[in-house]
Amino acid sequence: MSKAIAYAAYSAKEPLKHFNFERRTVGVKDIQIEILFCGVCHSDLHTVRNEWHNAIYPVVPGHEIVGRVLSVGSDVKGFKVGDLAGVGCMVDSCRVCADCADDLEQYCDHNIFTYNSPDKHTDKMTYGGYSNQIVVDEHFVLHISDKLDLAAVAPLLCAGITTYSPLRHWKVGPGMKVGIVGLGGLGHMAVKLAHAMGAHVVLFTTSPNKAEDAKRLGADEVVISKNPDEMNLHAKSFDFILNTVAAAHNLDPFTALLKRDGTMCLNGVPENPHPSPNIGNLIFKRRQLAGSLIGGIKETQEMLDFCADHNITSDVEIIPMRDINSAYERMLKGDVKYRFVIDMSTLKPE
Ligand code: NAP
Ligand code: ZN
Ligand code: ZN
Repeated sequence: MSKAIAYAAYSAKEPLKHFNFERRTVGVKDIQIEILFCGVCHSDLHTVRNEWHNAIYPVVPGHEIVGRVLSVGSDVKGFKVGDLAGVGCMVDSCRVCADCADDLEQYCDHNIFTYNSPDKHTDKMTYGGYSNQIVVDEHFVLHISDKLDLAAVAPLLCAGITTYSPLRHWKVGPGMKVGIVGLGGLGHMAVKLAHAMGAHVVLFTTSPNKAEDAKRLGADEVVISKNPDEMNLHAKSFDFILNTVAAAHNLDPFTALLKRDGTMCLNGVPENPHPSPNIGNLIFKRRQLAGSLIGGIKETQEMLDFCADHNITSDVEIIPMRDINSAYERMLKGDVKYRFVIDMSTLKPE
């Protein structure tokens, strides 16, 4: 075991504060990583505040982790001490089910998330990336290019793969009209990725002041989704819409914009359910409403390599660990361009 320090939530109502704990002894297939940067995902906030009713405290959030390898087990093949390494939303899965066999570990019924999952190595929960170090099985560790800015790479480990995976699954590419709903952490990555894949990208936002940024990030058009006239101009015209909104909202104005056989995929997991969609909107045009969860490890590596090739990273605001509580408040107000990333060198022993 090795000593670790972190910031943790001790309950849904308290600010995060220092937490001391131990990481497991590095096993033969394990990699111990010194965490350099960790992105701040809206899922961290949902979990910390128990909006999904599954938090087991203390919760050490953080699943957008980049760092450097500190030590490796004797059977580790792909990493050596000093290498850059990344960890996303998962740290283990059953490895034998049909989902695992298809490199879709995110859909494994027995996968272990990076935080707030029962940890088979200890009698505790898994503790995530708001921490100085982590020990993870090699299978769940990603290679990080040294060509890109490390802090700006961190959000790729969740926001990047969560949007890349559905864009690939629904074969987004040239000749397609693709909508992205919400310009937050996920949404701004979706705009960049869909643009790089060659689609015509339309960003839907509730925040008119984000329009200019959206175009800079790669949107061809911006629609203020609260304006029905603007929305109507795009009726029945989209091949695919990726909805990244973190709050419950009416889905019908968006499904009405899909062509026949078009799909809207939901990424957001709001605290409260969306109002039930208008089924007529779906059946009269054979439209589909779908969902998608992060992405598998193989696809995460593919996404990281795609981003290195296309020079894509996240737009980040780097914060010290002690600012995490105010960062959550700012994220709720949409006051971040477009992802907070914690500089983990600012995490000191208490
Ligand atoms: P975020 O940075 O807070 O962005 C969410 C965006 O949603 C906001 O920027 C805003 O965009 C829009 N929005 C927020 N409240 C809204 C409201 N009341 N009405 C309309 N639009 C609103 O969050 P994120 O980190 O991107 O995460 C987004 C969601 O995806 C969260 O629910 C998160 O838990 C979930 N998530 C899912 C997965 C998965 O695997 N499926 C993975 C990661 C995260 P505009 O200002 O442009 O309207
Ligand atoms: Zn996330
Ligand atoms: Zn499995």
